[in-house]
Amino acid sequence: MTHSGRRNRFLAVAVPLVLLGINSWFLHTSVNQLFLASQWVRQSLEVRETLIGIKADLLSAETGQRGYLLTSEQLYLAPYHQAEVELRQKMRALDQTLAQTEDYRRRFREMNRLVDQKLDELASTIQVHGEQGSDASNALVAQNRGKFMMDRLRLLIGELQQLENQELREREARYEAARIVAFISFAVLMAAVVGLFATIWWSTRRAVLNKHEAAKQIESYANSLNDTVSRLTVERSEITLLNEAGSFLQSCNTMSEVADLAGPFMQRLFPALSGGLYIYAASRNQLTVLVQWGEGTPDEVIDPQECWALRRGMVHHHEQAGSAPSCRHHHDARDTLCLPLLAHGEAIGLLALKVPENGNQIAPETIRLANMLVHQLGLTLSNIRLRETLNEQSIRDPLTNAFNRRYLDMVAEKEIAQARRLGQNVAIAMLDIDHFKRFNDLNGHLAGDVALSSVVDHLQENLRSGDWLFRYGGEEFLVMMRGVSPENAQSRFERIIASVSELQLSHEERALPKVTISVGMAMFPENGFDFTDLVALADDALYRAKKEGRNRLCVAERTESLMLLTA
Ligand code: GH3
Ligand code: MG
Ligand code: MG
Repeated sequence: MTHSGRRNRFLAVAVPLVLLGINSWFLHTSVNQLFLASQWVRQSLEVRETLIGIKADLLSAETGQRGYLLTSEQLYLAPYHQAEVELRQKMRALDQTLAQTEDYRRRFREMNRLVDQKLDELASTIQVHGEQGSDASNALVAQNRGKFMMDRLRLLIGELQQLENQELREREARYEAARIVAFISFAVLMAAVVGLFATIWWSTRRAVLNKHEAAKQIESYANSLNDTVSRLTVERSEITLLNEAGSFLQSCNTMSEVADLAGPFMQRLFPALSGGLYIYAASRNQLTVLVQWGEGTPDEVIDPQECWALRRGMVHHHEQAGSAPSCRHHHDARDTLCLPLLAHGEAIGLLALKVPENGNQIAPETIRLANMLVHQLGLTLSNIRLRETLNEQSIRDPLTNAFNRRYLDMVAEKEIAQARRLGQNVAIAMLDIDHFKRFNDLNGHLAGDVALSSVVDHLQENLRSGDWLFRYGGEEFLVMMRGVSPENAQSRFERIIASVSELQLSHEERALPKVTISVGMAMFPENGFDFTDLVALADDALYRAKKEGRNRLCVAERTESLMLLTA
């Protein structure tokens, strides 16, 4: 809590407490006043009652005296004696309760004297009556001293009653005022108590709410921290995987290696999505799929115009609920994400991702990850393609696309060594187009080029995938077939010779004359173990084929081989 917050809370409790203290003191004082006022009122009532009692006692004493004087019966003196006792008591009480003002005291003194005189007068009359008889007592009574005293006493008592009535009214008014003040004090005290409790309740509640709020805030901070940590953990594992994939893919030499490696990585990077990785064909009019994962993609070959990402050169995210159109190559309206693979500003391929059936939407994190991947992948694939092209160019003859002589030197010895290890045969054949000089002379050199590459294409089509075709020089080619018997090799070359002779050639919509080839063949290990010797034997056999009329196959003879080997 801040300093000002603490001060406010202190004031919120301290101020009502001080007010409550002042109010309590005020209430205490006003209750005291009320108590005193009530005592004064009671005292006035007592004075009034005492005055009435004194008046009654005087009459009672006088009545008792008269009864005795009339009857001489002692019995009648009983009220007189009782009144005499009570009168003295009441006068003492009155002395104590009567107000100490001069008005009262003067009248009280006179009244006290008159009461004494009256009692003396009554006593002397009774005494005279008892000793001297009724005439003497009647004579005393006839003096009317008693009557005068009684009249004066009545007057004094009336005056005191009047004074006391007036005093009583004033005291009652003071009592009423004190009562109102006490009531107001009490009401204010109650209000202050309620206020104090309300303040304490409010400030406690606010403190509890503040604590609750703070606890909620801490909880939300903790949750967001947890989210951040788990997001960072996921991102770190994604980046680790991305780096791992990048390092492996960069080490690939060919696209087919990429195709083998990329699938499992893609599956791990985008476990919730299906997809495919496409590469532009050299012609750039289509893209062919390199690898697919999950449910895959419907088309193995796509037209760049079918993809909005390729058309616009930027990431294209189609959502079912959104307005961005779906790419045609996805063939349905599910959520998709297409990212062009860019390298040096040019699209080299496409990463096409798609939500599988009953899958969730594509998350923003996935889009971020895919962006990072394509950035890296574009450059990697571009490098591999460049390397592949350079490699191809270095080992292939540009006109016919057959392997070149340099490549023959690289693989020939290895091929023979492998056949030796595996105990296999290798057929080595030299092929030469017949009268090709004449063909050139008659049809032109360009038509000769066309014929040359057409013959090579035809040869490639009729060879098996493991067979090798090298351009040995000019219109001469060398073919190696591993794992064939001499008979099998012989019949295959004879078929090839026959099919070449029937090949329809054309150049610039003009039919060209047919060509034939002659072939000389030697077998490893039947005719020799050394590649150079075997080539020489095949060349000799070719020479024989030419001599024997061309468009035919000649096979190296064992005797030739032995002769050469022993030479
Ligand atoms: P033979 O039947 O004895 O083999 O006769 P030939 O005319 O084929 O043999 P020769 O060695 O006399 O001539 C080979 C010709 O092949 C010479 C050359 O003009 C032609 N030639 C070699 N390479 C090419 C090429 O790349 N393009 C074209 N158009 N012609 C080529
Ligand atoms: Mg020739
Ligand atoms: Mg030749």
